[in-house]
Amino acid sequence: MVDIKITRASVLKEKPASSTLVFGKSMTDHMFIADYDEGQGWHDPRIVPYGPLQIDPAAKVLHYAEEIFEGLKAYRTADGTIQLFRPLDNIARMNKSAERLCLPQIPEELALAGITELVKLERDWVPHEEGTSLYIRPFMIGTDPALGVHSSHHVQYIVIVCPVGAYYPEGLAPVKIYVESEDVRAVKGGTGMAKTGGNYAASLRAGDRAEKQGYSQVLWLDGVHRKYIEEVGAMNVMFKVNGKILTPDLNGSVLDGITRRSCIQLLKDWGYEVEERRISYEELFQAAEDGTLEEAWGTGTAAVVSPIGELAMEGKKVTISGNQIGELTQKLYDNLTGIQWGRLADPHNWIMKL
Ligand code: PMP
Repeated sequence: MVDIKITRASVLKEKPASSTLVFGKSMTDHMFIADYDEGQGWHDPRIVPYGPLQIDPAAKVLHYAEEIFEGLKAYRTADGTIQLFRPLDNIARMNKSAERLCLPQIPEELALAGITELVKLERDWVPHEEGTSLYIRPFMIGTDPALGVHSSHHVQYIVIVCPVGAYYPEGLAPVKIYVESEDVRAVKGGTGMAKTGGNYAASLRAGDRAEKQGYSQVLWLDGVHRKYIEEVGAMNVMFKVNGKILTPDLNGSVLDGITRRSCIQLLKDWGYEVEERRISYEELFQAAEDGTLEEAWGTGTAAVVSPIGELAMEGKKVTISGNQIGELTQKLYDNLTGIQWGRLADPHNWIMKL
């Protein structure tokens, strides 16, 4: 049992209408904080009114990006109860990221209590409308006020939450993807397998370039050979080729996505062969030319499953599934969202009810 001190906000905010929500902008009334000090361990878990952090300008996180984060959602079911999807997987991944960034391990019980107790306190913020949810952002920062490049002795674990609207208010829609051949997101031996801010800073330029050309995301290639597919935007990626499912293996520079893991399980349940291996962009474009590239989709917490309708790269362009939503893409989306919102049975115990 984690003993959390709660200080309630004296004035509560007005809750925005679900239809007006912009992702990640409407923070709730409270946040969770726990401190870590070397020698003392984790201490002072507390829920306090949401507001700016006081942070020393020399804090390591501000200079050397000593930061890791997670992203998951709380879903409201038809009977009004609230549930989480595989939260312990997020906590395990956070501890893997922590290991890579020399941040301390956080006990599962404390990390989870920070999430569940905050969501319970903010339960009225979990929206009711179809496809909406409460996005949960746990993160950890190194706050030593010293400019030397060393790992921090003082760390904070913080959880903030915000209601988010339906990702596809008008139903699933295919996206156009640009294969990025200049910038790379991460390399093996670097921090690609960790969920750390620096990876996202490194991804911004290519994302901006793709957007200017009318594409919604980039397809990342590996940083060594510059030919093997890694991820799409901030999602994992899967392809249906000749009835088989192909997805890049977790080679050290690919994030171990929880939606990826869940899709692989469902696909295997349904009898599909899933190959986790290196996939070159040449193989993919060839499959498109041969007519064997049947479907492509991204997987991630925000969109769940995002159909890819077009792939472009330096003069080459291919359309996938006739720029329509593939049958299997739709089935994965329906099944995963069905489990998350409690409309379907949960055969693998992925749901944690609050
Ligand atoms: N790759 C990256 C780089 C991501 O940021 C995310 C989102 N967390 C994913 C993949 C998908 O992971 P998940 O399914 O756990 O959301």
